[in-house]
Amino acid sequence: MTEQTSGDVLIVGAGPTGLTLAIDLARRGVPCHVVEAAGQRAENPRCNTTSARSMEIFRRLGLADDIRRAGLPSYYPTSIQYRTTMLGEEIFRIDLPSARDVLAGVGKENWPTPEPQHRISQLFLEPLLEQHARGLPGVTLERGTRLVELTQHDDHVEAVVESAGERRTLRCAYVVGCDGAHSAVRRQLGIRYEGVDAIQKFVSTHARHSGIGARPARD
Ligand SMILES: Cc1cc2nc3c(=O)[nH]c(=O)nc-3n(C[C@H](O)[C@H](O)[C@H](O)COP(=O)(O)OP(=O)(O)OC[C@H]3O[C@@H](n4cnc5c(N)ncnc54)[C@H](O)[C@@H]3O)c2cc1C
Repeated sequence: MTEQTSGDVLIVGAGPTGLTLAIDLARRGVPCHVVEAAGQRAENPRCNTTSARSMEIFRRLGLADDIRRAGLPSYYPTSIQYRTTMLGEEIFRIDLPSARDVLAGVGKENWPTPEPQHRISQLFLEPLLEQHARGLPGVTLERGTRLVELTQHDDHVEAVVESAGERRTLRCAYVVGCDGAHSAVRRQLGIRYEGVDAIQKFVSTHARHSGIGARPARD
């Protein structure tokens, strides 16, 4: 097995957390190496609403406007409607502004933040963060590389990673686990999940249809 020095910080996972951390560290001049198990991005949508606090962090990193322009077309109101069917009786609605309105300052007086929450699917957010991270000096990002094992030493960490069936050891000062709910880093550290692991169960269906959004989106 080969051993490789991997900069100051090894970030495990290139989801929104790992990518945002990589961008933040790079901007502070801290080199980092991101390993991501998946060779390709997932195709199923997950996060849809990015909170105001996350948008504030993206603002600090200079990314908020780009993120606000990505995802839904800028003129789309991001209101939520609860209906009996797609075009049936409306039971309740939460009216929210379009990205264009937010950028123009509409409704600012009602939000105690310069960056209200934003509707962008994780499908659009992640590539934008990844593209930005890849363009920064000091960031190395490897897809198709999975963390297998960690060993803590007094002044460094050794991480065994696997890509295309080949294992190698990365030596780094710090490892940060950004590897999601089933985190291998968490398990390696012996940190157990506490509390109720499933407070609700739901099924999410991803459907594609050329005209499905047009009619309800009109209002
Ligand atoms: C249907 C659905 C809807 C959601 N809606 C919202 C929402 O509206 N708003 C919201 O804020 N959140 C929402 N979430 C939650 C949101 O998706 C997660 O909070 C978010 O993905 C967490 O980001 P993360 O970067 O911490 O982890 P993840 O996105 O899980 O990324 C972890 C990454 O680590 C990689 N990885 C895992 N193990 C290893 C390993 N051993 N080595 C290397 N890489 C590894 C994975 O491949 C993955 O890319 C939703 C989730 C689902 C499923």
